[in-house]
Amino acid sequence: MTDHSGAVASYPTAETTDEFAANLRDVRERMDAAAQRAGRAPESVRLLPVSKTVPEERIRHAIDAGATFLGENKVQEALRKSENLADIPDLVWAVIGHLQTNKAKFVARFAAEFHALDSIRLAEALQRRLDIEDRTLDVFVQVNTSGEESKFGIEPNAAEAFVRELPAFDRLRIAGFMTLAVFSADEKRVRECFVTLRELRDRVCEEAPGGLRPEGLSMGMSGDYEAAIDEGATTVRVGQAIFGSRALPDSYYWPTENGAGSRA
Ligand SMILES: *Cc1c(COP(=O)(O)O)cnc(C)c1O
Repeated sequence: MTDHSGAVASYPTAETTDEFAANLRDVRERMDAAAQRAGRAPESVRLLPVSKTVPEERIRHAIDAGATFLGENKVQEALRKSENLADIPDLVWAVIGHLQTNKAKFVARFAAEFHALDSIRLAEALQRRLDIEDRTLDVFVQVNTSGEESKFGIEPNAAEAFVRELPAFDRLRIAGFMTLAVFSADEKRVRECFVTLRELRDRVCEEAPGGLRPEGLSMGMSGDYEAAIDEGATTVRVGQAIFGSRALPDSYYWPTENGAGSRA
């Protein structure tokens, strides 16, 4: 296993149902072992396979191998795939990347989960669109735990006040918090991000207004999901270790507000 930064991780591309089954089994086994080492129940951690950039034909093999929950970072790509795979019953979609307010309508149409809630304006837009669709959405509040300007998410010290405003949006179910750790080969720095998110979650849950229990922690990717589980992750978002390496650098998927990729 490699870090999730500079030293380029190389994951073979899965093409067949058997290859997907092997990758899914391998990731799940590592997850279960990490949970056990941390004294946690393996069932307390969900695997969210991230299929961004992967064409529908290949996603079908992953589905045949048992994937039923899929994460996508760009909402229009996700919507297109959900329509092209609509013949498959019980597929559940999570949108995990930053969302512009004017695209809330797409998420409201098909997604079961949204992992990048980072503004009240966006909560308002989602609420309005979910009302129209008569749907609800499980949301994770994205927190910028690394302090990097290139990362979306609200500041850790603003998160408690932010969560207190969310019960006003009754179409949103506040499932927990999400973060992207710092891009570093230094596992200590990566873990600090996970710890920040967990401690924030613990504080918020202690003080949360009636009925609000944002206990979920969406953290950990191909390079660091075992460390994330050790620090309390309840959902890990794993792409490359299941589907294979992506050709484009991650800065392509995490553009900054002004559009420039800024992954140093
Ligand atoms: C792509 C992506 C992941 C998965 O990263 P991998 O390196 O493919 O495991 C997780 N979270 C977000 C927000 C992503 O965009």
